[in-house]
Amino acid sequence: MVARRRFLKLLAALSFSRVVPARATDRKFSFDSYPFTLGVASGYPTPDGFVLWTRLAPKPLEPGGGLAPAPVPMRWEVAEDRGFSKIVASRAEFPGPEWAHSVHAEVRGLEPDRWYWYRFLAGDAVSPVGRTRTAPAAGAAAARLRFAFASCQHFEHGYFNAYQHMVADDLDLVVFLGDYIYESSLRRNQVRMHERTDEPVTLDEYRARYAQYKSDKDLQSAHLAFPWIVTWDDHEVDNDYANDQQEDGTPPEVFLLRRAAAYQAYYEHLPLPAGMRPSGPAMQIYTDLQWGTLASFYLLDGRQYRSPQACPRKAGGGNEVDPRECIDLRDSTRTMLGAVQEAWLDRRFTSSRASWNILAQPVLMAQRRSRSGERESIWTDSWDGYPAARKRLLESVVARKLVNPVVISGDVHMNFVADLKLDFDGDRSPVIASEFVGTSITSSPGSWQRNMPVILAENRHFRYGNGEHRGYVRASIAGGRFNAELVGVDTVRKPESRALVLARFAVESGRAGPQKI
Ligand code: FE
Ligand code: CA
Repeated sequence: MVARRRFLKLLAALSFSRVVPARATDRKFSFDSYPFTLGVASGYPTPDGFVLWTRLAPKPLEPGGGLAPAPVPMRWEVAEDRGFSKIVASRAEFPGPEWAHSVHAEVRGLEPDRWYWYRFLAGDAVSPVGRTRTAPAAGAAAARLRFAFASCQHFEHGYFNAYQHMVADDLDLVVFLGDYIYESSLRRNQVRMHERTDEPVTLDEYRARYAQYKSDKDLQSAHLAFPWIVTWDDHEVDNDYANDQQEDGTPPEVFLLRRAAAYQAYYEHLPLPAGMRPSGPAMQIYTDLQWGTLASFYLLDGRQYRSPQACPRKAGGGNEVDPRECIDLRDSTRTMLGAVQEAWLDRRFTSSRASWNILAQPVLMAQRRSRSGERESIWTDSWDGYPAARKRLLESVVARKLVNPVVISGDVHMNFVADLKLDFDGDRSPVIASEFVGTSITSSPGSWQRNMPVILAENRHFRYGNGEHRGYVRASIAGGRFNAELVGVDTVRKPESRALVLARFAVESGRAGPQKI
């Protein structure tokens, strides 16, 4: 019995991330060139830890990243100071070729609510030093949370210079809301080019696309500075895909092979918890994250489980339709999140103790309907194409008395600030939540931009709309108020650009709806 207890204790001590002094394992390994070309990252802070990420790739655009198909011995270190004089956790890792020599280390046993520094060591190479932090203790009334959210970074549309401004901000967290890569090329007007202009389909092709994006220094610096939490939209796989449906009508069993490759490459290049590792074409990325009792984040997956878009133009994909003519839209069984995620979210709402509840999700939730003459139109890829699912979600917010709900969204490459209502057409329908839509890091807005005055006039629940700038949103929660600053850069056609605050909005605790300040 005693021996068994001692054995269990030993096992616990081993799995606990303490300093392991022996470095014999990695001394012999040497690389032909620097292996940390894709930078380092951290994510998913909890009160006692976070996830650390890197991927060894001396030649990032080559299959295998320029490494032999064998595990590589390496280690990571977490310190209380930038100079690593006080290392508080360290562990050996042996990333192998199955997951592109990526590491997803879940560090535990740290102090709540403080900053740490981390680095990776492999052979004689040392990674850049990243900075990250733990979340406040569970149940602690944190005074303040500062975060940025961003989405949509088409490499060919321009430089990710918005991140140069983001890293100068005083933030706890970055939330990315989808379109981390783009599968398709512009084929004209490129500011810079995809290495390969064909769409990726195989695992090696997606890995190469991610590797090219991850080679961007501005993107690397934003990962280096803050922990990230992420969700995806369509372009991580294919434009406007829905569940197992591709817009061009590829048979589902064929498309699912492509989705599996894309999901795997996504996992391999982001600081996701190891528990999110995909299995074939299935990968659960929806989750929640607590910031003491101040805020809860709900990271939602709007792609993997959704019903096909209503009334498509082609075999599948989004379409501009007149809602009065599209019968599919009235089908109450259609879903954006899928039944399992929807039920999970409703349960999380029921148990939430947070003062602010942030729904981080990819696509526009507010109704955006435009008229021209007799014709009305909505875009079916966003929540407008899933009106029954949107109503169920907002009814769940009301029924569970969710405190201070704020939705943050991406996808449309424009800033919007909106009141969310159960009935967008009913003037008497109360405002039940606020929505902030970030613009894009680089991706250009579509034709909506020209229609902005009309959109704002015809959709009175929009408090603001602007398609002129690329950028991100700087948000903070403190003193019973949610603040949002919409940050825009002047140009993404140059490596550097000035940034300005386009508008400031606040949501007061207990009063749904954003107010311009
Ligand atoms: Fe996008
Ligand atoms: Ca999108």
